[in-house]
Amino acid sequence: MISELRRDPTSGAWVAIASARSTRPSDFRIIHGEQKKGTCPFCYGSEHMTPPEILALGREVEAPNAEGWQVRVVPNKFPAFSLDYDDSIDVDPDALEQDRLYVSIPAVGIHEVVVEAPEHDSTFGTHSQSRMEDILTAIVMRFRALRQDNRVKYLQAFKNWGRAGGASLSHTHCQLIAVPIVPEIIQTEVDHAGQYKDRTGRCLYCDINEGEIEARERIIQESDHFLTFCPYASKFPYETWIVPKQHKASFEDISKDELSDLARTLRLIVGTFELAFDDVPYNIVWHTAPWNGDFSAYYHWHLELLPRLATIAGFELGTGYYINPTAPEVAADALRESIPEESKN
Ligand SMILES: [Zn+2]
Ligand SMILES: [Zn+2]
Ligand SMILES: [Zn+2]
Repeated sequence: MISELRRDPTSGAWVAIASARSTRPSDFRIIHGEQKKGTCPFCYGSEHMTPPEILALGREVEAPNAEGWQVRVVPNKFPAFSLDYDDSIDVDPDALEQDRLYVSIPAVGIHEVVVEAPEHDSTFGTHSQSRMEDILTAIVMRFRALRQDNRVKYLQAFKNWGRAGGASLSHTHCQLIAVPIVPEIIQTEVDHAGQYKDRTGRCLYCDINEGEIEARERIIQESDHFLTFCPYASKFPYETWIVPKQHKASFEDISKDELSDLARTLRLIVGTFELAFDDVPYNIVWHTAPWNGDFSAYYHWHLELLPRLATIAGFELGTGYYINPTAPEVAADALRESIPEESKN
């Protein structure tokens, strides 16, 4: 059964009720220890355990759903969003009767898994440069393909790492979820960037980059194409943003040079986190322009690395405000010092 998107009448927020997933209290029990490697659906030899693949890079001979791949994209076995819905239902949220107390639409969308490597335990910090480039290439290819589908308005790419980061399978992977409504966080960023553009004539993110380069207080690393820093109002301790220097609204418009630079930057930054902390859980989220308009003049794609070092608790849940115990200036200093000597610039 397809999940449902319900609108909370008190806040306007959309919630996906994913009925195909956990249902009974016992399904929420905490699983101790990692999954046994022999049964991992993402390791070589388990290709039959996933739905048929959408894309695979690196096979020397064409043999779908067999070993030999380097990066493999498959549909999520338990999708939170799906195109398998009754298409007689109007799924355009703008066409809904706004005055009704309870409104819902089917959770129309696409949910895919990017298996980053055949090696179960490799990470963004330990992948080779060519592996990391392949992963980003696969993600870009999916962005370019999925944006053709006008049933979806936004594609959220993300990585969950560690149990506290929400990873339910330990084999290294990213996820892609295409959704029919522009998510609130993205809409807020787009609106703020638009207002900033109206006031100043400039791009907010280009100005942030310039300001950070000038201030030199929060920068962790700078490369030809990217600036990596702890943002001024970091919500989480050691929150880190990777922002392209060239103004571009959409991740899928990344150039070849930018892609290899981003691969290098991610390997370095995640590798630095792995050196500085002992196996830190984190999420990496892509923020890029939605597909329901032209935001090229003022939105600017970027990645946010959100370490899960502190738990979200009552105050955060009650107010939406975050209390961050580590100033971004301190975090950036510590991370900069943890960068391996040979990678410093
Ligand atoms: Zn595995
Ligand atoms: Zn910009
Ligand atoms: Zn953002």
